[in-house]
Amino acid sequence: MRNVVFAISGPSGVGKGTLVKLLLKEDDSLVSSVSCTTRAPRKGEKNGKEYFFLSREEFISRIQENDFLEYDEHFGNYYGTPRSFVERQLKNKSVILEIDVVGALNAKRLMPQTVLIMIVPPDLKALQQRLAGRGSESEAQREERMRRVRYELEQQSKYDYVVVNDDLQSSKRRLQEIIKSEQNKEC
Ligand code: ADP
Ligand code: 5GP
Repeated sequence: MRNVVFAISGPSGVGKGTLVKLLLKEDDSLVSSVSCTTRAPRKGEKNGKEYFFLSREEFISRIQENDFLEYDEHFGNYYGTPRSFVERQLKNKSVILEIDVVGALNAKRLMPQTVLIMIVPPDLKALQQRLAGRGSESEAQREERMRRVRYELEQQSKYDYVVVNDDLQSSKRRLQEIIKSEQNKEC
């Protein structure tokens, strides 16, 4: 079995975090990369678990030290994948990067073996409801996130796999099939 980097992308609120948590719970060949961000923690988020929460100054100094495999700015905040964490984990496990489309395409350019998976909503109404149901963004922040959706969905053709997150359990099973088949590929 080979260790693979899986970049999982999709619009905010589509269910990436929920699905990744389920995958990690059931498969110890997987580990999720913990990104760094300058955004404030949401209720319940812990430093080092969902993200490493950094100040803007700290983030910029880490960019200068070439500490990120890739980084990008979304909604006024920086987000980046720590290079050393991914390289270390990849020795023993497959690594999931939960990152946006620009970050995922950059990661693929740097590491061509990266498998790109996009999670899409069954429709836009469901996406709006999920984002609102999560209750972690203001209405203005939700509108900003919804404005980016069309661009993200247009990138589907650049992805290796697209999974419609309609029923959560079916989506989880589909992702498990994809992961197994990629881990078992001869290269
Ligand atoms: P993301 O990480 O993509 O921003 P989340 O995992 O936080 O999205 O999911 C957003 C909201 O949608 C959460 O409240 C989650 O419980 C809900 N959700 C996720 N997947 C589904 C699904 N298949 N059906 C209904 N609700 C879902
Ligand atoms: P959120 O604030 O909802 O956690 O994430 C906002 C966006 O940032 C999402 O599209 C998420 O995929 C993206 N993101 C999270 N971590 C990273 C990262 O390390 N790099 C990049 N490029 N995007 C990220």
